Amino acid sequence: MPTSIADRSASSAVEKLPLGLVWLRRDLRLHDNAALHAALRACDKVALAFVFDRDILDPLLQRGLQADRRVEFILAAVAEIDAALREHGAALIVRHASAREAIPALAAELGAQTVFCGRDDEPEALARDAAVERALRQDGRALRTVKEHMIFERDEVLTAQGKPYSVFTPYRTAWLARYAAQPQQPVDSAVTSARLAALPAALRQPLPTLSELGFAPSNLHALKLPLGASGAAALVDDFSRRIDDYDQARDYPARKGPSYLSVHLRFGTVSVRELVAMAWARQQAGSEGARVWLSELVWRDFYFQILFHHPHVVNAAFKPVYDRIQWRNDPAQFAAWCEGRTGYPLVDAAMRQINQTGYMHNRLRMVVASFLTKDLGIDWRWGERYFADHLNDFDLAANNGGWQWAASSGCDAQPYFRIFNPVAQSEKFDAGGDFIRRYVPELAQFASKDIHAPWKAPAALLQAAGVRLGSTYPVPIVRHDLARAETLERYAVVKAQ
Ligand SMILES: Cc1cc2nc3c(=O)[nH]c(=O)nc-3n(C[C@H](O)[C@H](O)[C@H](O)COP(=O)(O)OP(=O)(O)OC[C@H]3O[C@@H](n4cnc5c(N)ncnc54)[C@H](O)[C@@H]3O)c2cc1C
Repeated sequence: MPTSIADRSASSAVEKLPLGLVWLRRDLRLHDNAALHAALRACDKVALAFVFDRDILDPLLQRGLQADRRVEFILAAVAEIDAALREHGAALIVRHASAREAIPALAAELGAQTVFCGRDDEPEALARDAAVERALRQDGRALRTVKEHMIFERDEVLTAQGKPYSVFTPYRTAWLARYAAQPQQPVDSAVTSARLAALPAALRQPLPTLSELGFAPSNLHALKLPLGASGAAALVDDFSRRIDDYDQARDYPARKGPSYLSVHLRFGTVSVRELVAMAWARQQAGSEGARVWLSELVWRDFYFQILFHHPHVVNAAFKPVYDRIQWRNDPAQFAAWCEGRTGYPLVDAAMRQINQTGYMHNRLRMVVASFLTKDLGIDWRWGERYFADHLNDFDLAANNGGWQWAASSGCDAQPYFRIFNPVAQSEKFDAGGDFIRRYVPELAQFASKDIHAPWKAPAALLQAAGVRLGSTYPVPIVRHDLARAETLERYAVVKAQ
């Protein structure tokens, strides 16, 4: 996509720096890359680097996540970028180190005056970037961050009183109005051999292998998830044929309704600008599916700006009153939830989906989060942490927002007295039981109407389906009606305080 006339005249008027270093983080693509675009405008030559940041990876290993699909996903994306740069006679510089030290050291080694990167507003990322910036400044260099993975960030969408929004619907209205006035177009970041810095052999090393990074293979490749920017493009192409049905299909986990782009959005193998431009155009043409999907992308920005303006949500309830809840926190029930053996088939199927694939359908994330917090009375932070370790698309802002929504402790959250009934959810959204059968094969012989609550089935039916409750499939670990009453009491007490 060509730069605008305004962009071109601005860049030609300014004296260019000899060399800029582009530090890729959650923008693992060469096209429509805002940091690369900024570097190409400001510098004669650019070099690109990625750090397998030990400050992030070592804690994963310490938590026993040796076979982490995300590390393999990143490695595949990085390999694709490296291959593309090598076609231009350059390479991606890859380090396995603490980024706080590696980036300033690399800038010095290359003689790069400025390091360019996409902004990341997670609290730990902000702290890391501040440390990098300090080190660069001490050495006479600079860090330049640019908006990259959001459409509108930080203070770009505020209320008429200049305050951040904490309710989604008016935020979306303001967001859409701003986008209509200022569409965020894809940027030109095409590289040519002439613009890429010549690298010494020491900086053109082959990529580290998974085992050199300390990780073991996961089942990522067996899942056949399209990888890298090319994989993301294939998924976008596929979804662009289904987007018009999104509003009808998205809530049914057995159907191919959603885009499955979340992991690509997480690591930037796809550009959110491109996706929004596509949804916007389709919405303008009257597609209800595109309108609803666009709304989901607005939720994404919404939670990012909540995290930016209210970083306390990382450890605490958005609404402090809910920090007073006395959770039951039964470790055995938590283990049953994690392992998909609660005795509630839809909950178990969903938990097995995340365990086996690293993905969970949005409807099911809501169901299992409600079940953990409202049926089991377990602190939402336990579930949030489990998702953080197991979701391929784990994103602090969206995950925290989703969990606090389900626990009713967040901004614009579900009211605490509205509690999902796991059986009713199952009957409504997996009426045929197809999703349950996929992940809970021990119930596969049940008829559709009986699969949602096996404990209600008569003995003869259980026998015909080959199910022995408590042996081949668990009896429910809680009674929903009793748990519901207990939860209402638990929340009412803190609300009254
Ligand atoms: C408890 C809970 C935890 C969640 N954790 C995460 C997480 O860690 N990472 C994550 O990306 N999403 C999270 N979500 C939001 C949502 O479930 C996923 O984004 C979605 O299921 C991803 O699948 P998809 O790409 O096929 O979605 P699609 O339906 O195709 O949606 C397109 C994109 O919109 C964004 N999006 C959709 N719904 C939401 C939402 N509610 N909040 C923010 N962004 C949204 C995502 O980037 C998604 O990829 C969570 C939701 C809940 C209820």
